[in-house]
Amino acid sequence: MLVKESTGGRKLMGRFEHGADLLQALEELVEKEGIKAGALSLIGAVQEARVAFFDQASKEYKTIEFPASMEILSCIGNISLKDGKPFAHVHIVLGDKEGRVWGGHLLPGTKIFAAEFVIEELEGVHLEREYDAMTSLALWQK
Ligand code: ZN
Repeated sequence: MLVKESTGGRKLMGRFEHGADLLQALEELVEKEGIKAGALSLIGAVQEARVAFFDQASKEYKTIEFPASMEILSCIGNISLKDGKPFAHVHIVLGDKEGRVWGGHLLPGTKIFAAEFVIEELEGVHLEREYDAMTSLALWQK
């Protein structure tokens, strides 16, 4: 088990631009604000979405595309360091016009219709992602 305790940090609340790429907008904000560790929650809607499912057997990500407008029912994630730079790991739950739910690991290519975020910076926390041989994922190692 790996546990780190935060000593404080800022809480940011805002909205991303219509038409922007969701993951890119998040990464730009995190970089601009210098957030090295934190938690994210976001709701809104997308014009189209691209997510991934990690197949544990093949240890590969399978891409899933939703070329339609959908609600962002829940989008949560965390921010930590990967290759020495802030990295956002984000999962998204999307609702279609029938109320059905889809989702996955957020990929570039998800276009914002509207997106309201809350980001909580976890000051004092240092977590680095590195390759994990058991899972083939980049997990927190130190
Ligand atoms: Zn993921």
